[in-house]
Amino acid sequence: MTERIPCIREGCPNTILPATAARTGGYCMPCKQEMEREAHQRYIEANRRDVDLYEGITDPVEILKIMHTRQDHDPLIRYVAYEHSKEQVYLSLSTEQQALMIDYAMQLIRTGDDDTGKDILVYLVCYHDTSLSTQIPVLLEHEIYYPVILYKSASTQVRDQLLQRVNTDDENRNNLLLMLAYIGDEVVVRQFQQWMQSPPRWADQLHVAPEQYTTEAGWELTNEGQRRDLFIIPSYSLYKVKENEGADDTSIGNSITMLLTSTDICEWCGSQLTTLIDLDVRHPALQDVAWKSERLQVQTCVSCSCYGVVYMEMDSAGEPCWSAHNVMPMGADDLDQDDNVQLAPDAGRQFRIATAPRHAFHASEWAMEPSTSQIGGHPGWVQDADYPNCPCCSSRMRVVGQLDWSEVEEYGDGMYYMFICEPCQMTAVSYQQS
Ligand SMILES: [Zn+2]
Ligand SMILES: [Zn+2]
Ligand SMILES: [Zn+2]
Repeated sequence: MTERIPCIREGCPNTILPATAARTGGYCMPCKQEMEREAHQRYIEANRRDVDLYEGITDPVEILKIMHTRQDHDPLIRYVAYEHSKEQVYLSLSTEQQALMIDYAMQLIRTGDDDTGKDILVYLVCYHDTSLSTQIPVLLEHEIYYPVILYKSASTQVRDQLLQRVNTDDENRNNLLLMLAYIGDEVVVRQFQQWMQSPPRWADQLHVAPEQYTTEAGWELTNEGQRRDLFIIPSYSLYKVKENEGADDTSIGNSITMLLTSTDICEWCGSQLTTLIDLDVRHPALQDVAWKSERLQVQTCVSCSCYGVVYMEMDSAGEPCWSAHNVMPMGADDLDQDDNVQLAPDAGRQFRIATAPRHAFHASEWAMEPSTSQIGGHPGWVQDADYPNCPCCSSRMRVVGQLDWSEVEEYGDGMYYMFICEPCQMTAVSYQQS
């Protein structure tokens, strides 16, 4: 029997056959592989270079084309990120530059890269409310039915085609209904009303009644058959100031206060409530909101809202108070107060409300990673659209804003949605996560 000999690498307890030792220079196979890996890593580190694809390029259209081009992974290349985000570059586009991006997107779609083409169009529609009425027939030819927001600006001719097709196209009916909801003009509203009054023969193939689809596009059909929008406009971004960028500067009159811990207690879990936003009702974001107090305060239990909707009423002084209508959701009674979110004292002071409004659908496509925290605007639903009903009057509540929790806490995630019922002066907060 051959005698095994020890691996010569220091500290290695393995023994090997002399034949192996002859092949490896005295090392065991795991050590040999480990050393090769380390050598490879050293090689990469010594030879890796930074590549700046944006060097010398100032045209935002060219910059976006690069951003939308997937680079093959090469361990010897480290790509330098562009100094501004994709969202910022899109927002900087002039009308002519937007048109060039549309042409580029359509060219990608014609040559088979539907995914990149669609992405570009979605950014243009969300950030600039760009009309795609000329391009929509081509999208349909290419059997592109999603994201449905692309169809918002369909011509009356396409709208009429879709209204016909929804009766016959079993496979795409879901998306066709959503497209129609996004188009949402008078003819569409009338059609949804007719479907509500006498459900079409295909209605029982859907999970919800046809008229429920409208909420995905941010509106509902009233009992009188009118369109009622479920979000407020204009929309103002809530953005976080960068570190050392005057986060503590209270001298610039900020009409919003955010993320203040209240002295009031959650009746479900016993922890302190949080005022997500406290906004002066004279702020232009609230120009279409009928609120009786001087400030719109949306308060909730940030822990319990993850399990169910938390409603707050306004007392005679206009201050929020826990609503007697709240029904404890499953799971909330298991919450341990000690596990609850402890916000940093300056969490709210890092936020600002933008000085100028942005397009109402800016944050709609949550998965495209826009900046999502906002007052006003169509919500960016992480899951399906879900507007709570007011517990007093049963109407759907309107959304007034949303707060992306990943911006609030280092390891936070999910989105808090804030709602109001103006006749009842109630607020509500719900939560969704991926
Ligand atoms: Zn070894
Ligand atoms: Zn609670
Ligand atoms: Zn109500």
